[in-house]
Amino acid sequence: MNIVLFGPPGAGKGTQAKILTQTYGWPQLSTGEMLRAAVKAGTDLGKKVDAILAKGDLVPDDVVIGIIGERYDQPDCRSGAIFDGFPRTIPQAQALDTMLADRKRRIDVVLELKVNDAVLLQRVEQRIKDSGGVARADDNPETLKNRLEVYYKNTAPLLDYYRKQGKVVTVDGMASIGTVTAAIAKTVEAKKS
Ligand code: AMP
Repeated sequence: MNIVLFGPPGAGKGTQAKILTQTYGWPQLSTGEMLRAAVKAGTDLGKKVDAILAKGDLVPDDVVIGIIGERYDQPDCRSGAIFDGFPRTIPQAQALDTMLADRKRRIDVVLELKVNDAVLLQRVEQRIKDSGGVARADDNPETLKNRLEVYYKNTAPLLDYYRKQGKVVTVDGMASIGTVTAAIAKTVEAKKS
């Protein structure tokens, strides 16, 4: 299956993507993790996107579409993938639809993790505390504010794009991790059969 995990920063997409990977084997394709790895490795791509990530702005569509296309063609994505943090704009979603259609595949479900802003801020503050001072460069309350603004302006409109395709299933992302996992598993099992 091909699943899009959708929601604002801190909604739990990464956590749930990893659980889905463990349970079903579909790899987690996180553009954020790929970009952070490029920054860490100091590649040309990393140098290009470092400042953008630190500010919480969006990397250009052609860059992320390129890295997703390359990653999706790896053999471990043959039975599907979990898209985490991609797509984030309408052109990205259209490019993803085209890429999958070219391979005779499609998005099976878009799982929206719904969490309110106050809880997101609390979670990022907790993530900073838990990291013991080595938090992600963009995990601070100020950058989170920008990441949320970018989310509502550029990414949230994608929900309508996918609603029109009848693909959105909304899950209460403020429930416990186990409860969210169970809700997702129920949807995935129903779609699989
Ligand atoms: P994430 O780990 O998903 O929160 O992503 C971290 C950062 O990487 C974002 O704030 C953006 O700067 C960048 N990024 C990740 N995915 C995308 C995407 N699909 N489109 C544009 N920028 C992205």
